[in-house]
Amino acid sequence: MPAKAKLSKKEKEELKKLLLEKKNSIVKKLSQYYNDSKEIETDEALDLVDKAETSYTKEFLLGLTDSEREQLSLIDQALERLQKSEFGLCLVCHKEISKKRLKIIPWAPYCIECQEKKEGESKER
Ligand SMILES: [Zn+2]
Repeated sequence: MPAKAKLSKKEKEELKKLLLEKKNSIVKKLSQYYNDSKEIETDEALDLVDKAETSYTKEFLLGLTDSEREQLSLIDQALERLQKSEFGLCLVCHKEISKKRLKIIPWAPYCIECQEKKEGESKER
């Protein structure tokens, strides 16, 4: 049975919206950080994120925690997959990620089984 994402166009649009909203909230936090140190508007921060999409600069990401940094990069990857219509497939086993899971974590790169396996591995050290 071929692995094929069965997300409708409408569902993809909704997930894209969720991803962009999440990205904006992280970027907003980042621009607040910059406001404390440098003068930067939210628009400029967004611009920075766009420019930094291929290679995040160290300075740019100083205002983010590790998990936010990781999330931002996962969100960007998810948006990229959305464009290539590979979205919704697990990066490891290429099976569909459940819609229920995608609605909670739209940037999830793995299905639940693979995610649990990965987490199990990191716990074992
Ligand atoms: Zn998987």
